[in-house]
Amino acid sequence: MRCDIISIFPEYLEPLKLSLPGQAQRKGLLDVAVHDLRDFSHDRHRTVDDTPYGGGAGMVMKPQPWWEALEHVRTLGDGTPTLIVPGPGGEVLTQRLARELADEDWLIFACGRYEGIDERVYEAAADVMPVRVISLGDYVLNGGEVAVLAMIEAAARLLPGFMGNAESLVEESHEDGLLEYPVYTKPATWQGREVPPVLLSGDHGKVAAWRHQQRLERTAARRPDLLHASSALTPGGVDDRW
Ligand code: SAM
Repeated sequence: MRCDIISIFPEYLEPLKLSLPGQAQRKGLLDVAVHDLRDFSHDRHRTVDDTPYGGGAGMVMKPQPWWEALEHVRTLGDGTPTLIVPGPGGEVLTQRLARELADEDWLIFACGRYEGIDERVYEAAADVMPVRVISLGDYVLNGGEVAVLAMIEAAARLLPGFMGNAESLVEESHEDGLLEYPVYTKPATWQGREVPPVLLSGDHGKVAAWRHQQRLERTAARRPDLLHASSALTPGGVDDRW
């Protein structure tokens, strides 16, 4: 998967060189290139923003540098990329959406700042490539970079070969709509707190049933909104309370 990220703070994306995303790049699973939007500005102050038409607080990102940056980046890969614009007014990032991103060969991420990007950039971009506005959640960040880090990490870990053990993806939170069960490691007793005895029983059937029940209870307690949509609630489920 190729990811081109356009930002006025290229250093913000440095963490993508670390840990599993870094390894994925070295393995050739992920190809990340970061571009400085200011390189596409032509005045000596490298200006990328201006005051909003209609008045109001804050600044708006100018269309010209954005368009030149997008036109340049579009020449760097093969085929048609999808443009992802992080924004609090977009569709919310979910595991399903992360999977859709992971299915794409080439994504361009446009990191807004200030009050956002001139709306005409979205319109012009939509004439030449698919455009998706994606939100990290119902709150406002200072810029799109943190959202892009989250989107790329959520998508890249779904790429075949990214995880050392692909099994660990199977029962994760949000894969089938339920949250994950609680996890424990050694020692069996810590500060007087015991690991649930069933996990020490060696009975795989009982462990699986306990974990499923824990997933249901945890989801009901923390995210009841997820329960109705979950594909894990099949007839014959562990607890018919749900
Ligand atoms: N004025 C905008 C509004 O009210 O919708 C918010 C602009 S915000 C200060 C600046 C940039 O941060 C946005 O253009 C976007 O790139 C990013 N951003 C802010 N909140 C976000 C969120 N919840 N998800 C994704 N990106 C976000």
